[in-house]
Amino acid sequence: MPEEPTSSTSSAGLSNASEQCVEFAVENGLIPATKECRTHRVPMKVEYGQNKNVGSFVCNKGNCRARSRVARSKDTLFENIKISLARVFYLMYCYAHCWSYEDAIHENPEKDKVSIETVCDWYNYCRETVVFYQIERKEAIGKTGGTGKVVQIYESKFGKRKYNKGRRIEGHWILGLIEDGSEDLRLEVCPENIRSADALVPLINKHVAEDTTVHTDFWRAYDFLGEHGYIHKKVNYSDPDNPFVIPDGTHTQRIESQWRVVNRFFKKYNYNHPENFADIITEYLWRRSVQRNKKDTFMKLIKAIKYVYK
Ligand SMILES: [Zn+2]
Repeated sequence: MPEEPTSSTSSAGLSNASEQCVEFAVENGLIPATKECRTHRVPMKVEYGQNKNVGSFVCNKGNCRARSRVARSKDTLFENIKISLARVFYLMYCYAHCWSYEDAIHENPEKDKVSIETVCDWYNYCRETVVFYQIERKEAIGKTGGTGKVVQIYESKFGKRKYNKGRRIEGHWILGLIEDGSEDLRLEVCPENIRSADALVPLINKHVAEDTTVHTDFWRAYDFLGEHGYIHKKVNYSDPDNPFVIPDGTHTQRIESQWRVVNRFFKKYNYNHPENFADIITEYLWRRSVQRNKKDTFMKLIKAIKYVYK
């Protein structure tokens, strides 16, 4: 965890804490150590300007200076950040250790106040990264479901964050599948962000065995599932009063119990929206796997960030 900033500064004009944060970011591959000037094919220098966070790369050959200058944070997690690197790592640490928003605000080692919006932004940011990392790395093992089994299927719009625009993790449709009585949650990012029948049916075929009873919401792309060897039942997930009841009154037990487990886990975050279901389950699965492997959550978060911004 970053140390409290001190008044001493390094040769680069950064405080020791800032310098340590930059070193940490470079060592862990979150920002590049060097960059080559395209014109002169030499490594550029790092300069710290008014924004002392991570600096810029500059080539000092000839009149290359102005032309070559490029933010060291370009295409990284830190592009256009409004807070110090130390604070970013602090909030990542808080997120990794499941601190509540209130704790993150009150335990802040710097003297100035962290706003709840900032904490919320960075927690969301970390979560989206973790979820994407987890989904991309998850290998499906055989098919789920089968005769007499029920598989819940839902799609969810994931990644609404606009703070750092232009990221590949923004606004993707994700298909979630889970068999009743199983912990084996399958998640798929919809190809080309399309959730038509042509896009969804092959994904469902990939994960769900024929003759399975599948529960979906009312999205019309699912209307064809009966023609693909499934027993299809529509469920009103979006009923604000009771999202887990299907029209004939039957509870969709699996979704409800999964929801309860992760809801307990993330109670302090105040999640209660069905549209966040896939994200929360996935974050939960990620945390559980980190703990089971006795790894450090903060370092695993750093690893996920490096992977997503590779
Ligand atoms: Zn140059």
